[in-house]
Amino acid sequence: MENKTTLDYVVEVEDLTVAYDAKPVLWDVDLKIPRGRLMAIVGPNGAGKTTLLKAMLNLLTSVSGVIRFLPGETGDSPKNKIRIGYVPQSGSVDWDFPATVLDVVLMGRYGLLGWVKRPGKNDVAIAKQTLEKVGMEKFSSRQISQLSGGQQQRVFLARALVQEAEIYFMDEPFKGVDAQTEKAIVQLLKELKAQGKTVVVVHHDLQTVADYFDWVTLINLRVVACGPVKEVFHEENLKTVYRSSGALLKSRV
Ligand code: ADP
Repeated sequence: MENKTTLDYVVEVEDLTVAYDAKPVLWDVDLKIPRGRLMAIVGPNGAGKTTLLKAMLNLLTSVSGVIRFLPGETGDSPKNKIRIGYVPQSGSVDWDFPATVLDVVLMGRYGLLGWVKRPGKNDVAIAKQTLEKVGMEKFSSRQISQLSGGQQQRVFLARALVQEAEIYFMDEPFKGVDAQTEKAIVQLLKELKAQGKTVVVVHHDLQTVADYFDWVTLINLRVVACGPVKEVFHEENLKTVYRSSGALLKSRV
């Protein structure tokens, strides 16, 4: 079993409470995200998974508590700032302005360019290679608004990947994608982990989490458990969150 006290953490959340219209939807969240892991946030519909992700990204207003990003000894960006890649849920962004798929992916490079600079040949090459990785190279000159939800999701993934971030937050990256694309995305997640990146993924399918992730936070309006998948996915925890257990997992973890 892993010794949690010796782990190197990249994010620490303390006493986080989040409300919409003065109505709390997440209570007293304490959470530590270990560096270099694939961590899933799982729980039923309406459990507050997206809310937790957005709160950590500082995208919400009614938030109390502490969220700390901790730079590593090596590899993190200068000035102790951790570069964060975010893949929003498909359908959550309304593209009513003209932008091609390539334009959208290139947006991910701007943080690396500094002021005034425009993306150059190298950035375009990186964007194209990344579109190829997510199987979207044929769509690079299409308008993003013309794509399906699953296709947009892959473009957002490419946009996050070109950012060369240290930590990635992804909201349901498997939503609306076919089995082949799911495999390709799993492969990308593994590559990010192999590069020492931290990846936090909101996901609803416990089996995928059991198969591919090494860390999990189980939530239902509060954190029920957080730790290695094998420790967290046990009958009692799953019953607390879903009111049923084994049937949700096709095989034992
Ligand atoms: P999950 O991602 O686990 O499905 P969410 O974080 O999307 O859950 O939602 C948690 C709760 O907050 C739900 O009851 C949802 O209806 C509510 N909620 C989410 N977004 C908003 C919002 N913008 N305004 C008001 N309530 C919201």
